Parts: sequence; structure tokens; C-alpha cells
Amino acid sequence: MKLRIDDITAEGREISFAEPEQELNRTLTRGNLREYFVTAPLQVSLSYYRAGTDIFVSGTLEAEATAACARCAEEFSRPSYRRFRYVLAPKAMSDNRDLELTAEDLELSFYQGDEIDLSPLIREQALLAMAERPLCREECRGLCPQCGANLNEISCRCTSGGLDPRLAVLRTLKVAR
Ligand SMILES: [Zn+2]
Ligand SMILES: [Zn+2]
Repeated sequence: MKLRIDDITAEGREISFAEPEQELNRTLTRGNLREYFVTAPLQVSLSYYRAGTDIFVSGTLEAEATAACARCAEEFSRPSYRRFRYVLAPKAMSDNRDLELTAEDLELSFYQGDEIDLSPLIREQALLAMAERPLCREECRGLCPQCGANLNEISCRCTSGGLDPRLAVLRTLKVAR
């Protein structure tokens, strides 16, 4: 999605649009976020206005994604949601601009030419929304380290009558100290 600089006025405007997910999925695959796959276009709502040469953009994004659980590797639906705010300054005035920023959640970016390409900013925010290790549920028991069985579904012979593998790890840590 691109905004024409000339169309941005001091009066706030709002837009909603769907941002294609293919490029985001390519970025996810290249990076270390292979657990995630976005299954539908991102739903984005924005408001924007101009103050002098600075363009202020704030909005929300929603992403429908599947994720592979970091403990048991099962795929599950993991929608993401994020709010964001940007101030975009002309590239020609980029020297030392970041020193002026005070608000913590306000990100600085730059534009040049006669339009602002919002797609890289939206992808950046979507990646931040997916930056944590996905868990299918908080109490996921994961896979047995010995036989690989999904301990959410069955209890394997490795653990029956023996120590819970998670407790065994704790014991090892104590001994190591
Ligand atoms: Zn899991
Ligand atoms: Zn086992």
C-alpha cells in the first residue's frame, strides 16, 4: 500500500486495506521465524496526517497465521494483532533526527520522492507481532526427549514409572552447581 505525499493533509484520514501476505511469508522463511506461516492477507487499519514535512501514521494490523508449537511441533492457528505508530520524515532531513524522538512506541522512518510505501513498515510490524516462540498452549507438555512421543496425547514408556523428564533436567542442574 502506498500513500501519495500530496494527498496527505493536516486533517487526519483513515483507511482500511488488505496487505498481501506473500512477501511476508518469504521474509519469515528467510529469517529465523520458520514456525510461522501467514494464511491470509493482513488486515490493516490506518489513520495518517501531516505536521509540516513529517507524516504521522498510526494503526493496527491483524494477521491470520498458523504456527508450529516450539515444544510439540504441532501446527495450530495463531492470529496476531499489533498496534503501531510511525513518524516519517523526508530522507533529505535524516541527519540526527532519531535523537529528537521521545515517545517509546513511536518508530521513525523516512520517505523520499512523492509517495510513502507502507508495505515494508507493515511487514516489520507483522514480524514483531510474531517475534515470540509459539506455544500451542501454555501447559504444552512437548515431546518425549527419548522417543519423540507427543506427551500431550500419550504417556510413553520412557516416563512411566520413571522421572518426569522436566524434573530430571532440574536435578541435573542442581548437581551441576
Ligand atoms: Zn505444543
Ligand atoms: Zn518416550
